[in-house]
Amino acid sequence: MVQRLEVRELERDYIEFWPAGTRAKGEYHCSDCGYGVVVTTVLPLCPMCSCESWEQAAWSPFRRTAAGIF
Ligand SMILES: [Zn+2]
Repeated sequence: MVQRLEVRELERDYIEFWPAGTRAKGEYHCSDCGYGVVVTTVLPLCPMCSCESWEQAAWSPFRRTAAGIF
C-alpha cells in the first residue's frame, strides 16, 4: 500500500534494522510486512513473508496494525 511505503521511507532515517540470525531479545517487527514477534534467542525469518530484516518495536509511537496481523 502506498501510504505504508511512504511511512517506511520516513522511518528509515532513524530506524535500526536487525538481520535474521542476530541474537536478540524483545519485541520486533518485520521491516517488510510489519509482523510482530517476541524474540528470546535469535531473530528468525519472518513467518509471513520470509523477510530477513527486523526492527525493534520499543521505540514505536504507533503500532503497525495496517496489515491486520496482530
Ligand atoms: Zn514479514
